[in-house]
Amino acid sequence: MRCLVAVKQVIDPYVHIRINKEQTAVIQENVKMAMNPFDEIAMEAALQFKEQGIISEVIAVSIGAPGVQETLRQALARGADKAIMVMSEKSYNPLSIAKVLAKISKQQEVDLVLMGKQAIDNDCNQTGQMLAALLDWPQATFVSKLQLESTSLIATREVDGGLETLKCKIPAVVTTDLRLNEPRVISLPNIMQAKKKPLTEISIEDMGLELNNQIATTTIQPPPKRKAGVKLNSVTELVDKLRNEAKII
Ligand code: AMP
Repeated sequence: MRCLVAVKQVIDPYVHIRINKEQTAVIQENVKMAMNPFDEIAMEAALQFKEQGIISEVIAVSIGAPGVQETLRQALARGADKAIMVMSEKSYNPLSIAKVLAKISKQQEVDLVLMGKQAIDNDCNQTGQMLAALLDWPQATFVSKLQLESTSLIATREVDGGLETLKCKIPAVVTTDLRLNEPRVISLPNIMQAKKKPLTEISIEDMGLELNNQIATTTIQPPPKRKAGVKLNSVTELVDKLRNEAKII
């Protein structure tokens, strides 16, 4: 069984986000980047199946500016067998990303696509669902437990009221939730070894796809600044403030 894992490069979740003066974009220059955390989980799931002998090949794919190569090298260091980098200086909406992933999934003849439930930079939570529709494959989203069999998969999904378990045929698209696993830490020898693994570069323009951004971001605003807190001397004072100033009790 061959598995494609979509890994997006995002701003490191621990970095303070800054917005440009025009309030149209998040500043990315000279900012620490990382693999989208949900994609780390997707990669870990693929690697565990490979270690169990269920998956034979893990292919990491990323679409973005040349810097995404670093994220793909990380995927290779974790244990992916090969990587495909689709170079694009422009950023695309989920439908276009899904079209690119659909084309690569077909070209690489994969049986399973594992990806994050959402990218933490745009919070779209759309690409997996669109990819499944484009490929006409079943999908299991928000997956917190996954079992692979030769022709099907059993996935437990985190839904509002609790957990839902479903079975579907493969090929399929699976998007991962936080509790599926804990991604491994990359060791130095693995980082060195990853340099020898194949990383193919292809330009998005050469893919022969019609890609249009139907949505444009008009404004980005930071959350309102929080007021400084005050230190109170007693519970009586706290109750007084909650009752008379905040008026919440
Ligand atoms: P989104 O729908 O944008 O929230 O993204 C959902 C998932 O799609 C991510 O967790 C990734 O697995 C995948 N994805 C989105 N954008 C990219 C990209 N530029 N390159 C590779 N994978 C991506």
